[in-house]
Amino acid sequence: MPEGLENVFLGVTVFVGVLIAVFWLAIVIWAYRDMRSRSRDPVAQLLVALLVILLNAPGLLIYMLLRPRETLLQAYERSLEEEALLQEIEDKPICPGCSQRVKPDWQACPQCHHRLKKMCRHCGYLLELPWNICPRCATSQVSYTSDGALATASRHVKPAEPAPIDAKWVASQELE
Ligand SMILES: [Zn+2]
Ligand SMILES: [Zn+2]
Repeated sequence: MPEGLENVFLGVTVFVGVLIAVFWLAIVIWAYRDMRSRSRDPVAQLLVALLVILLNAPGLLIYMLLRPRETLLQAYERSLEEEALLQEIEDKPICPGCSQRVKPDWQACPQCHHRLKKMCRHCGYLLELPWNICPRCATSQVSYTSDGALATASRHVKPAEPAPIDAKWVASQELE
């Protein structure tokens, strides 16, 4: 083989060799970084790097098939979204009598007449039924009596048919 051709051949071989080595290293680094974004387990991260070092492209393929579906960031964002969704559901009150959506400023359910809130007898602020003091004006409230009769001075909510409503209310109180 002529010396000139031999040099060209050597140069090409070295060039290709370096290219392969760089590519090899690059995919090892890529796989390691990718695994780090998906798992906090350092052993798993090392195993992935080792797999790709040993098997290279086929190793990368195996890793891509088996890697955790979500990155840690995606999992975190999903948990935030779920929390926000839950919060939204919690923020929308439902009637304990008929499970229909009710508004926070309603005193009674328009569907089943279940009493939802009571009014402060001094300042008119809407109070939760079990509260016996108004958080706004600190006036003590007369609660419902044990037989379910409404004992507050509230004038605004006068259930049309008190008997079934109060029975339900008593039942819900016993659950608590
Ligand atoms: Zn209702
Ligand atoms: Zn008050």
